[in-house]
Amino acid sequence: MPRDPRYDILFEPVKIGPVTTRNRFYQVPHCNGMGYRDPTALATMRAIKAEGGWGVVCTEQVEIHPTGDISPFIELRNWSDQDVPALARMADAVHAHGALAGLQLAHNGMNAPNLYSREIPFGPADLPVFSIYDDPVQARAMDKTDIRNLRHWHRAAALRAKAAGYDITYVYAGKLFGGAMFFLSRRHNTRTDEYGGSLENRCRLLKELIEDTKDAVGDTMGVACRISVDELIGPEGLHAAEARDIISHLAEVPDLWDLTLSSWDNDSQTSRFADEGYQEPFVTGVKKLTTKPVVGVGRFTSPDTMVRMIRQGILDLVGAARPSIADPFLPKKVEEGRMEDIRECIGCNMCVSGDHTTTPIRCTQNPSMGEEWRRGWHPERIRAKESDAKVLVVGTGPAGLEAAMMLGRRGYEVALAEATRDLGGRLVAERRLPGLSAWGRVVDYRVGQIDPMANVEVYRESRLTADDVLGFGFAHVAVATGATWRADGIGRRLLRPLPLAEGVEVLTPDDLMAGRRPAAGPVIVFDDDHYYMGGVLAELLAREGREVALVTPNGEASTWMKLTMEQHFVQARLLEVGVSIVPHRLPTRVERGEIELACVYSGRTERRACASIVLVTARLPRKGLAEDLEARRAEWADAGLLSVTRVGDALAPGTIAAAVWAGRRFAEELDAPPRGLDDLPFRREVAGLADGPLPWVAH
Ligand code: ADP
Ligand code: SF4
Repeated sequence: MPRDPRYDILFEPVKIGPVTTRNRFYQVPHCNGMGYRDPTALATMRAIKAEGGWGVVCTEQVEIHPTGDISPFIELRNWSDQDVPALARMADAVHAHGALAGLQLAHNGMNAPNLYSREIPFGPADLPVFSIYDDPVQARAMDKTDIRNLRHWHRAAALRAKAAGYDITYVYAGKLFGGAMFFLSRRHNTRTDEYGGSLENRCRLLKELIEDTKDAVGDTMGVACRISVDELIGPEGLHAAEARDIISHLAEVPDLWDLTLSSWDNDSQTSRFADEGYQEPFVTGVKKLTTKPVVGVGRFTSPDTMVRMIRQGILDLVGAARPSIADPFLPKKVEEGRMEDIRECIGCNMCVSGDHTTTPIRCTQNPSMGEEWRRGWHPERIRAKESDAKVLVVGTGPAGLEAAMMLGRRGYEVALAEATRDLGGRLVAERRLPGLSAWGRVVDYRVGQIDPMANVEVYRESRLTADDVLGFGFAHVAVATGATWRADGIGRRLLRPLPLAEGVEVLTPDDLMAGRRPAAGPVIVFDDDHYYMGGVLAELLAREGREVALVTPNGEASTWMKLTMEQHFVQARLLEVGVSIVPHRLPTRVERGEIELACVYSGRTERRACASIVLVTARLPRKGLAEDLEARRAEWADAGLLSVTRVGDALAPGTIAAAVWAGRRFAEELDAPPRGLDDLPFRREVAGLADGPLPWVAH
């Protein structure tokens, strides 16, 4: 289908200093947990975005020197010429698909604890480092030599970015990551020299860095400045008016303004806490301050919103990190008029967790993310079928839907059976929980793709038994039957059932999601899962007017959500809706009307009123069908059955992202050459050993 003319504006070229991007789709820098450890995997991931039509594809923040080392986080490095080949690999791969390659130079100043390099961090003042783990490290105030050195290192890194073939480079002063931001910030910068005090003085370092970079590489490279437009902490922080004064002061100095909001948690808010385009009020008006192009983000997945941002003069370039992760082919789909094929980001921040755990990026919607090189997965393509085998997929949760969709794309004849009337498995109910409606896109996208496939037949209200399966004549069966929440309290901390007195009302998340509600009186939600479910259910009950306490052995609600940058938002919301959060406690016994809790440190017990308890601890795989089939293995040959595979939660309950990934894996591995027991399941890149003798070792 040809492109809808109303989207033409998105495909106009834009000049960024000496370079021109082919369209307005701009993949802003984003972390990915691969960085210098997995440079080829990283280059392949970025290249696929270029293939998918993005006009500009940027790196993550790239460390420029050991004094700005943000270990343990794994980003790219540009410390010396040794790093240039790895950097060039990405630029070359991006160019091969006609996009511009951008490299975000970053010296993180007093955000960098230098745990790897052990260099002393520096910033505008003598202050503790502002790092994620509150490391016991202090930064020292920079003197003039330090400032000179920093400018020298930044310039040298820009020259290496040019040597590596990049088209755009950055000076980073955003999110309290880019070191220059600490100079802009009144609360961090208490200097009395020409780098502190007035706005002009606080801008001096940033201005010098931009000018140095332009001087070094500006003849062939666009130089962008990334800056936060409001720290969202009131007058104490860099507030909107001040940020605008800074941008006005430096208006024409860079070739491009890249706008971020506050720190990373606010810039990349999840759908539970913010809608698409939530940055709009913060970036509106910035374009009037400069003639240079402006890029901004907003989890944009709707081309109409993108067009509006351009037409209303809010942005020149549509920035995206997460929408480009969920769908690396978003621009191409708009261009080809295939809107229904866009795999919209659900705003869950599973991708962010990769950076925080220093493991390759993963995405709930796009299971190929991070697997492009190591497993050879592509977000849009998959190899054709290798046999005429018929495949039965049982269960239409995220795992079953993904498996059926990808097998359908491969050309297999697929039957997809679902016990209930609704497709979506766990998401049928979970998408109705407070704040989780956007997660339903996981189902909607896949059902929308499967619908027109003539080779995938969907059977609703078909609860299959082993007899059914053996009678159908399928060669392969994927058992994606999901999992159920436990009702006995067993999980991470309790390895024996929680002692419950006769008549105590116990509910599981499945009960609540099915519409059951606790009897009158105080409800305890015991959360030993620590992801979203405990917090969401406590919120649900509190919003319905119930008296709710969330009991957790941890120090806060939904601990794991620190990795999706949501924990503090969850905690604030629970407090706001009246949930009492009871930290560091484990239930030891539940009586009628009362619960005994023990302190996880002292063991001291206390009692609390409790009419009913909701146990959010662990799930059990629904493996009955797979086990029944296994028990009848002798009948497989006559039935034409070759394999039965448990997939997703039916194998081991996990995240939705893990279930989608498992479905993809099943589809990828069907009919693949068998892997030897000693073969690794994926490729990896092993660093070359250094040459030369080892010091202190006799040779
Ligand atoms: P996952 O996250 O692994 O995809 P879900 O729990 O979301 O798992 O989905 C499992 C789906 O399987 C549910 O919709 C459930 O109704 C369905 N299901 C379970 N057992 C059967 C069965 N025997 N026959 C057909 N569908 C089943
Ligand atoms: Fe979007 Fe979630 Fe994928 Fe991140 S992991 S890109 S937030 S769908």
